[in-house]
Amino acid sequence: MNKTDEEWRERLTPEQYRIAREKGTERAFSGEYWDCHETGTYHCACCGAALFSSAHKYDSGSGWPSFWQPFDPANLATAEDGSHFMRRTEALCSRCGAHLGHVFPDGPQPTGLRYCINSASLKLAREV
Ligand code: FE
Repeated sequence: MNKTDEEWRERLTPEQYRIAREKGTERAFSGEYWDCHETGTYHCACCGAALFSSAHKYDSGSGWPSFWQPFDPANLATAEDGSHFMRRTEALCSRCGAHLGHVFPDGPQPTGLRYCINSASLKLAREV
């Protein structure tokens, strides 16, 4: 999944490109999925890798889709992020490197983690 910048621009909406390829952030309570309660699997908007399941989604009150564990840990990469004068852990798609959001240690049990993810980086495949 090594695409050029131009290929990503063609494939994604401007908002998806800004967030997933340029590490942007959508406004809280503005994305497609923060208040979504449908059943299915959330895939990477860039490459289609399965990233999260609705079974692990919860309402964190943050205004972004939040999950307490990834669909498959192998599909999720993390990196230290020191931008904006904060020390945070960035969540990325391990297959294509898409920026997804951040991971915080204030989630519910059993993991205690909160994967705080931009809707623009996700695409929900609904279960029918
Ligand atoms: Fe991806």
